[in-house]
Amino acid sequence: MNKIIDGKRLQSEKIVAFKEQISNISDKLKLVVIQIGNDTASNIYVKNKKILCEKVGISFEHLWYDSITEDELIEVIDRLNNDDSVTGILVQFPLPGDIDANKVIDTISPLKDVDGLTTYNMGALASGQKCLVPCTALGIVSILDSICDSLEGLDIVIVGRSRLVGRPLASLLLRKNATVTVCHSKTVNLKEKTLNADVLVVAAGKKHLIKEDYVKDDAVVIDVGITREDGKLYGDCDFDNIASKCKYITPVPGGVGPLTVTYLINNVIEAYYLQKK
Ligand code: NAD
Repeated sequence: MNKIIDGKRLQSEKIVAFKEQISNISDKLKLVVIQIGNDTASNIYVKNKKILCEKVGISFEHLWYDSITEDELIEVIDRLNNDDSVTGILVQFPLPGDIDANKVIDTISPLKDVDGLTTYNMGALASGQKCLVPCTALGIVSILDSICDSLEGLDIVIVGRSRLVGRPLASLLLRKNATVTVCHSKTVNLKEKTLNADVLVVAAGKKHLIKEDYVKDDAVVIDVGITREDGKLYGDCDFDNIASKCKYITPVPGGVGPLTVTYLINNVIEAYYLQKK
């Protein structure tokens, strides 16, 4: 197998499986994405979500607002929470600065929270209960499952402790009996920690933060970071110099990204079954 992990190929395999699952559900699944403003990256992400939903047979509704108050946004979410035809609700970030993102997230019903970001779902994940889990963390675990027979006992170092990536990923990996170290912007001597990693996951959003001398020989490197510069995308790892020494590595673009959007489909299906219970 090639050491460069092909996220697009893994995505195609997952899409076939999810499409099959959806075809066995008699109800029509529906995802509603709420977007405020015109952030360029958000426009691309929303478009990709729409394309994928349509491909697998999920109805997609895009609620776009040029501007909206916090109270109006909460009213919209409340209406969607009570609408039985809506399976999943996703608020596209970033939100305008005058809107309290935590308050908005926690207005979403935990059973429709397909981003897995509500306090309820974050807490349920940390305490090992069944819940909706952030898509990027699920995508990363699916990549690791495709290349490792077991994660038990492996030293896994995560760089980044965000609610979206690092924290939920640490919870998922602990469930798989890995030994997990989470590093962040205040970590002292990052290199000493990353050099110990059998699996290194980097989600800091800092272009080429991880150089060749930060990586152990034969390590697995999962690069989550995306930095846009002059229309080009860069990861958090110096791919060209790291690739030759590691066992597997994900490229940017074409590594973790395709799996993130794919696991949104997984979460709409999961949300449906949670609501049925
Ligand atoms: P964030 O800004 O919320 O968190 C970044 C984390 O990195 C923080 O915990 C911070 O402490 C840590 N960090 C920053 N600088 C560091 C340093 N020098 N050393 C060690 N740790 C450092 O970002 P996020 O939402 O978690 O996203 C991280 C990156 O991943 C971004 O580039 C984002 O675009 C990308 N991302 C990609 C996908 C995908 O599907 N490929 C999905 C989500 C996020």
